[in-house]
Amino acid sequence: MNEKKFPLTKEETLRLIERYPTPFHLYDEAKIRANFRRLRETFAWAPSFREHFAVKALPNPRIVQLLHEDGAGTDCSSIPELIISAAAGVKGEEIMLTSNDTPYEEFQKAIELGAVINLDDLSHLDYMAKHAGLPNLLCFRYNPGNLVEGNDIIGKPVEAKYGLTREQMFEGYRRALEMGVKRFGVHTMVISAELRTEAFLLTARLMFELAAELKEKLGIHVEFVNLGGGFGIPYRPEQDGIDYDAVGAGIEKLYNEIMRPAGRGDVGIRTESARGITGDAGWLVSTVLHEKDTYKKYIGLDSCMANLMRPAIYGAYHHITILGKENEPADHVYDVTGSLCENNDKFAIDRALPKIDIGDILIIHDTGAHGSAMGFNYNAKLHCAELLRRMDGSIELIRRPQTIDDYFATLKYEGSLMK
Ligand SMILES: *Cc1c(COP(=O)(O)O)cnc(C)c1O
Repeated sequence: MNEKKFPLTKEETLRLIERYPTPFHLYDEAKIRANFRRLRETFAWAPSFREHFAVKALPNPRIVQLLHEDGAGTDCSSIPELIISAAAGVKGEEIMLTSNDTPYEEFQKAIELGAVINLDDLSHLDYMAKHAGLPNLLCFRYNPGNLVEGNDIIGKPVEAKYGLTREQMFEGYRRALEMGVKRFGVHTMVISAELRTEAFLLTARLMFELAAELKEKLGIHVEFVNLGGGFGIPYRPEQDGIDYDAVGAGIEKLYNEIMRPAGRGDVGIRTESARGITGDAGWLVSTVLHEKDTYKKYIGLDSCMANLMRPAIYGAYHHITILGKENEPADHVYDVTGSLCENNDKFAIDRALPKIDIGDILIIHDTGAHGSAMGFNYNAKLHCAELLRRMDGSIELIRRPQTIDDYFATLKYEGSLMK
């Protein structure tokens, strides 16, 4: 069980809406920092630990900056994400580039910033060396194939486009050594939105065994094992969150069993959690515009899939509450929709909720990761604002809403679109 709470009272929310009209995402700094602290404590036993926040989940320099103040670096998959990291004060090896199908400009920018490079394929080694040179610290992304089950979001590893096979991993490190790379790490990301302790332990075991074997076969002493992201959050109120104490203790035990006897007791642990840090610290706040009663009952919001796509593309559950009606019985059943001309633009299908009235404020929970960031401009729908609730309760606008001018900015058109 977990309680789905919105950090503002009804009065505070209504006052905020006068200043910033809906829809908007609100993020809570205190919750983000607390989530990060919990992750750090999980790995407090490791010789060195660093979290590289996966910028793609919430690409906002303010968020990256506040996490960096507490010691987090970043994991990037594009030039703008590298620029966001640098703008937020994240430097050198605090930054990691984990892209796939990577254009050489990304390698160039990452090497210029002194970032750690994580290669997604054997062939990228020569490609990077030719176009961008070599980084000081290199790792390869491991895809363990049939050893791991996968799920709907990340897919089965054997079907996934990411990473190298086990044989290719050894070939990659061998060739990188020959090319003169001196410092190495090892990386994987095979789980997503995972809540089960065993899944984290399986990942850690695979990676520790790989690191030990790299030492044995190639004499490579990796500086870190990066376990990737995939730390899930309980999207449904009846779910329990990750047992971080059990994950920490379980991984420590494996480390002591596998790494220490192999003379690898100094290897650091890295993670790239995003959902686990900001996921449950964000809410999409919308106003009910319409109620429609046909073959089903529909509630139409002023937000849409442009602001939160996860329900539409993965059928993901996001909890919904209605401001001021949190304790009323859920005795009505609705489809909660956005305004896109796509029938999958629904935040919830057949959801039991209290009676909803036009003008009600709907809170969609757990939108802090892969929420706003995933939004697109299909149907010429615009991105909404993002607000940060600071530790002292004040509210900061950290992304203004996209305007029609912004949307038209890339069009070439003789005359004026803005009459
Ligand atoms: C998306 C991504 C992450 C973050 O995933 P979460 O499930 O949000 O923790 C981390 N690493 C890589 C390589 C990713 O692509």
